[in-house]
Amino acid sequence: MRTDERVPAYGGGWLHRAGALRADAERLAALRADACATVLPLWRDRCLVTAEQMPVRLVGAEAARVLADGTQTVFLGVDDGAGVFAADLSARPEAEAVALAGAASTVDVRRLAGRLDPAEAAAQAYARGLLHWHRHQGWCGSCGARTTSRDGGHVRRCVGADCGRLLFPRIEPAIIVLVEAPGSPDRCLMARHAGAAEDAYSTLAGFVEVGESLEDAVRREMAEEAGITVTGLVYQGSQAWPFPAGLMVGFRATAASDDVRVDGVELLEARWFTRDELRARTAAGRPLGRIDSIDHHLLGSWLAEG
Ligand SMILES: [Zn+2]
Repeated sequence: MRTDERVPAYGGGWLHRAGALRADAERLAALRADACATVLPLWRDRCLVTAEQMPVRLVGAEAARVLADGTQTVFLGVDDGAGVFAADLSARPEAEAVALAGAASTVDVRRLAGRLDPAEAAAQAYARGLLHWHRHQGWCGSCGARTTSRDGGHVRRCVGADCGRLLFPRIEPAIIVLVEAPGSPDRCLMARHAGAAEDAYSTLAGFVEVGESLEDAVRREMAEEAGITVTGLVYQGSQAWPFPAGLMVGFRATAASDDVRVDGVELLEARWFTRDELRARTAAGRPLGRIDSIDHHLLGSWLAEG
């Protein structure tokens, strides 16, 4: 298994994306026709998995059939010289997709968190995000005509006679912030979100709006959701979150005061936790955020500092 504990799930750059090949029709056709080609089949955002809950990869004749029968496929990249593709079986009933892939069932890749090889988790998430985009960009937003896939599935082009607009996959950035209290003892801010379980706390997060920098979004979200002014923003890392199109950008920041005032809409409660309190929570079986989330990394690295 290829692993790297420092890299949040679903990223890591394991697969060579071979962007230069996307517009090279000849070489792409050769990769598709190659007996070593691999296909990741997906059904409506879900992996097709074996009875052991391992994602199915089609190879040989099965891969060749899906790559040639008109199924929507996209080029993900190259692994060890062989093309890696994803196929969208969403047009078929679930049972038919499962049978076609020789799978046992379908499952959301996030349900496999912590059990998958990180490279496989990243490939499945990449495939899911790109195929989701295709399913929702079938028509041009400018003229209403159909769009068609090109460049290995990384561009769609409007077929409208006077349009021809090119559509590219969009990423929706969101910020996620570990806010520290001013002064001592060291404390970090965690909040209970609307809809969350009674005792489920996590760090604060929000979408970046049009016309905002990441830093603007951090300052606005912290003010809106928790009534705090933050300074000293430090970038911590990012995480691919293609569910369906997210990119989580992690920051650390310091609050100007201890006073917290939640909005009561998105956040029901927010409070400061010392490291000892967080450790007591984990010892009592309450995990520090989702194991596959950057939240887990932000909290884990903060805990490791004291
Ligand atoms: Zn158009």
